[in-house]
Amino acid sequence: MNEFHEPKPSSPIVPVQLGLDDKFQFHCHRGIACFNKCCENIDILLTPYDILRLKKRFGLTAREFIDRYTVDCTLDAHGMPGLKLKRREGSTACQFLTSEGCGVYADRPAACRYYALGLMSMRKKDSPVEEDSYFVVKEAHCLGHLEPKVQTIREYRIEQGVDVYDEINREWKRIILKKRSSGPTIGRPSQRSFELFFLASYDVDGFREFVKSTSFQEVFDIAPDELEAMASDDVKLLQFGFRLLKQVLFGERTIAIRPSAVEKRLQRYQQKLREMAERKAQQLAEEQDHVYDSLD
Ligand code: SF4
Ligand code: SF4
Repeated sequence: MNEFHEPKPSSPIVPVQLGLDDKFQFHCHRGIACFNKCCENIDILLTPYDILRLKKRFGLTAREFIDRYTVDCTLDAHGMPGLKLKRREGSTACQFLTSEGCGVYADRPAACRYYALGLMSMRKKDSPVEEDSYFVVKEAHCLGHLEPKVQTIREYRIEQGVDVYDEINREWKRIILKKRSSGPTIGRPSQRSFELFFLASYDVDGFREFVKSTSFQEVFDIAPDELEAMASDDVKLLQFGFRLLKQVLFGERTIAIRPSAVEKRLQRYQQKLREMAERKAQQLAEEQDHVYDSLD
């Protein structure tokens, strides 16, 4: 996800907001003198769909990919877990960089596809959806801005294949935006909520096992055909995970809970209340015994 900050005087972000049909001048190609420069000093935040594509490319489980190719980071002040692409050992370069260019080009992350554009998503007050706008990022080393090719943002997005990434990551980005913008009304999620966020966002294979577990299915009422689809379709599983996160983080009723689970929760709560009352009664009785003992 591209994160937008207010442009500073030295910022490479050109402070002009562009829409899909606005044009900009840029062309990156193999013959350009700066070829590979942008991949020699990386800071790439990964999205859930980036991880799906790359782990599939390498034939790894999500966990194996995470352990081998990513480093931890945080997405907000509360420590929401994020992942960045790991740099090459002892260098700032991307470990997928080769002398021929990107070694994972067909599955490169969304941030690499967007470059040299920045994306900003904002929701206006009282609007149910966010609006996207774009900014050109002009870094001194990048000579692509001097090339004569001019295209619209829409054409560039199609050429770079970002649509499918944005579509699949959309709800995930909404969760992060909502979490960041809600401030103290939501507060810091519990450690278990963060663990679930990590599992559902990045470790899709681990999340599948979790969804298949008896304890999960005793609580959530999921239609058999949805369960079957999620057993083999990683994207469907991701989308389900984002719905679950909205329920866990924001209390939205996105997935039905079995009445029996509600009943069990109520029983557990009543049992706790009974135990507390018994402990209190016992404590009182002991205190009274002490008083009688002191009268003897
Ligand atoms: S994934 Fe490819 S395009 Fe992205 S930084 Fe690495 S080498 Fe460059
Ligand atoms: S033109 Fe820019 S994006 Fe393309 S290789 Fe050069 S530095 Fe990288």
